[in-house]
Amino acid sequence: MSGYQARQDAIKAVTSYQPTHAPLNFTETSASEIFGCNVFSMKVMEERLPKSIFKSVKKTIDNGEHLDPAVADSVAAAMRDWAVSKGATHYTHVFYPLTGLTAEKHDGFLEPDGKGSAMAEFSGKLLIQGEPDASSFPSGGLRATFEARGYTAWDVTNPAYIIENPNGTFLCIPTAFVSWTGEALDKKTPLLRSNQAINTQAQRVLKLFGHDSGERVISYAGPEQEYFLVDRNFYFARPDLMLTGRTMFGAKSAKGQEFDDHYFGAIPNRVLSFMYETERELYKLGVPVKTRHNEVAPGQFEIAPIYEQANLATDHNQMIMTILKKVAKRYGMACLLHEKPFAGINGSGKHLNYSLGNNTLGSLFDPGDTPHENMQFLVFCAAAIRAVYRHGDLLRAVVATAGNDHRLGANEAPPAIMSIYLGEQLADIFEQIKCGKCSSSKSKGMLTVGVDTLPPLPMDAGDRNRTSPFAFTGNRFEFRAVGSNQSIAGPQVALNTMMSESLDFIATELEAKTKGDPKKLSAAVQDLLHSIMVECGSIIFNGDGYSDDWQKEAKKRGLPNMKTSVEALPIITKKEVVAMFDKYKVLSPRELESREEVYIEQYIKALITEALLCVKMAKTTILPAALRYMGQLAQTCASMKAIGMGYEMVALEDVTAKTRGLKAATAELEKLMEMKHKDAKAHAAFMCDKVLPAMLKIRAFADQLEEVVADDLWPLPSYQEMLFIK
Ligand code: ADP
Ligand code: MG
Repeated sequence: MSGYQARQDAIKAVTSYQPTHAPLNFTETSASEIFGCNVFSMKVMEERLPKSIFKSVKKTIDNGEHLDPAVADSVAAAMRDWAVSKGATHYTHVFYPLTGLTAEKHDGFLEPDGKGSAMAEFSGKLLIQGEPDASSFPSGGLRATFEARGYTAWDVTNPAYIIENPNGTFLCIPTAFVSWTGEALDKKTPLLRSNQAINTQAQRVLKLFGHDSGERVISYAGPEQEYFLVDRNFYFARPDLMLTGRTMFGAKSAKGQEFDDHYFGAIPNRVLSFMYETERELYKLGVPVKTRHNEVAPGQFEIAPIYEQANLATDHNQMIMTILKKVAKRYGMACLLHEKPFAGINGSGKHLNYSLGNNTLGSLFDPGDTPHENMQFLVFCAAAIRAVYRHGDLLRAVVATAGNDHRLGANEAPPAIMSIYLGEQLADIFEQIKCGKCSSSKSKGMLTVGVDTLPPLPMDAGDRNRTSPFAFTGNRFEFRAVGSNQSIAGPQVALNTMMSESLDFIATELEAKTKGDPKKLSAAVQDLLHSIMVECGSIIFNGDGYSDDWQKEAKKRGLPNMKTSVEALPIITKKEVVAMFDKYKVLSPRELESREEVYIEQYIKALITEALLCVKMAKTTILPAALRYMGQLAQTCASMKAIGMGYEMVALEDVTAKTRGLKAATAELEKLMEMKHKDAKAHAAFMCDKVLPAMLKIRAFADQLEEVVADDLWPLPSYQEMLFIK
């Protein structure tokens, strides 16, 4: 299909857009009635399970206690009956392999009863454990093919749910995915482990502040999800969008995002209809989506749920991504989750709002109203400062993907340098703490009264800073470097583990200094905060993270600035990182090695696909268009000459030169792709240093051609069309 045809079809799709479904009617069925209707929730369990069984399950969910295997049969039967009552014929263990996707394998409930009929069966055994033949998922050497067994294990802490399809429904059971030796092959297992670690260490700190109820400390996540929408006619006319998720060619649109007229603007009708339906589908699944708006780039939008405990928020974010794509199709659009679908305009990220706390204490990053709470708050804040200072490179590594490389440091997303933004007021307090032992009597005076008598901080202490990768935002930290297409599990695991290490350090120091005497706490905290600030204060940066000055300043401070995944991914197996993950039993050295291997492999594969497609499109799509246009120009010249008119060769010469450039650049890339490499790391580095620039060179010629070739001959939908025809 030519770009010209796609444009006509897209314009028709937009101008004659008719909803395919009857309009949603929230007066007939209210949103609150729909919310969670497809979830095997606590409420449903309470109704359907025997009391003792329900109590036992609830204990596991609420307090993280061991699951009593004896409850499984009972839960399975109740789950099956509930699912069948909702029209389910199949069930699946849902798991999250290292590809970052959501995986499922369906089995029917029906089993023959031996008398010619069949019954819906589902035992506790089937609920607790599954064995998908999932040997094709990457394991980074944890599973040789001969020992390819992988097991899924029921995650009781997240509820089962029903997914609807026009032809039926099926039951989904969240699970962890492990090898037969018990090693994690997925994103969920380390997340659950890191939740345990953070609870243990946070409890120790809280105990020093007099909270000894033992109530579990939970890590929370509130991921804001950005995405693009384009008409499906364009999507199918762009092989690069279909295969790689991003456009590898495309001249700049005359109008981009410079007017900021899209941001928070009125949402186009078709898009709004899509949003309503997306939200309704997510309500059914109990996903508490709350916010929707236009984002900065034309065609870019955001959806954000209310934050939840991290494990649930992670599953829910996966559902959000799946539903966005699914519902977009129904409205004739494609949802793009790639971090940089279009060059030259903003990419998409996922702001991961992170906090620790529980129902009784609220967020431990909340300054609170009293000085005593302030002291505790400052300790947790200091733990975050220390964590990011010591493991900023790890934070960079867990957001390292081929897609996100286009975004981080590209002048709109947070830079690749990890730093913390505290806001003016908090930064000032920590600066005072840092200078506490300085000679200046003023700051000394302030600090001695300081810490436990500091005035309560207002909720919004200070301005927002969009240029920081890790910003304090009133009662949480916002990690903004996460890629839009990524699972949030990796970043959440890293944050939990880094925080565990710092809280462990803090608890150990304070326990030793106070020796159980609460009167000694204030002085001990002051000392500790001071020493943390002296050691780690250089990670705090409140200025413009996009500026060149910051790049220089960060270098002076010795902060790492890893611009590519190739530099960042090896951090996963750095000595200190391995020791930390091992100590808190989140990931073993072998599991970390396997992860590094898988992610490098994924990086290489992504770039190979891009490079091969780049060559193919250059040769079979762009070159022929240029040649056709050259033919037309040549004919025009010949005709003019024939009738004795002066003729103009400039246009023809121009197109010819650019076409030659395109051909030569394509040949160069083809040659590069024939090279052999000694190992995966070398291969990845080669893709990054040589292949990516070679692709850009082809693109430069192609985009120049797009600027001169006749519009009706150009084979690809343009940026202008894809971004603005809605
Ligand atoms: P903004 O765009 O201003 O950052 P949004 O409303 O788009 O704000 O998103 C903020 C996200 O942060 C929401 O998902 C919200 O639920 C979440 N959030 C709020 N408080 C906390 C908290 N204590 N811990 C984790 N996430 C939080
Ligand atoms: Mg937002």
